[in-house]
Amino acid sequence: MALVRLVYVSRATKLFQPSSIKSLLATARRNNQNHQVTGLLCFNQHCFLQCLEGPRDKVNETFHRILSDPRHSHVEIVHFEYIEKREYVQWNMGYLQDNASIRALIQKHSQQEVFNPYELSVTATLGILRDVRDDIYHAMVDASS
Ligand code: FAD
Repeated sequence: MALVRLVYVSRATKLFQPSSIKSLLATARRNNQNHQVTGLLCFNQHCFLQCLEGPRDKVNETFHRILSDPRHSHVEIVHFEYIEKREYVQWNMGYLQDNASIRALIQKHSQQEVFNPYELSVTATLGILRDVRDDIYHAMVDASS
């Protein structure tokens, strides 16, 4: 089965408490592990930016479930491609919330002060996702050493 990567943006329809994000991530990670889906989720209390990668049918099934989730709206696909290998192989759903680190990455790639993934170019979007991946990875390595 062909491997694909899909990136979308959306707007939160409600205020997310840390516990709501925790439960969303727990469900995402459980389902994604069962379906060989990997990826990354960025969130700043207003907007989501998510990358899903894996077998094409599983990524589509997952995306259809996500699309009908009332916790967000204005879902827009910003990137879709067939891939040879995964970029987020370590994570069934890595997560980065808004903090100084993500703000610095956004500034670097887009000159934006506030994270608004709807306004980003594809190059900036993919650049942010890759840098976020490296940031989380380094934080994990630092924490375990
Ligand atoms: P359950 O978790 O048991 O949920 C059952 C139903 O209740 C679903 O229809 C769900 O949408 C709804 N629901 C659950 N909690 C709430 C709540 N607090 N408020 C309103 N409705 C609720 N799922 C994945 O599998 N992989 C992902 O990567 C993923 N990423 C997501 C990213 C975002 C930004 C959002 C908003 C959701 C994401 N989800 C993801 C969740 C997805 O939308 C579905 O809720 C989930 O896949 C359903 O899993 P489940 O069938 O095991 O149902």
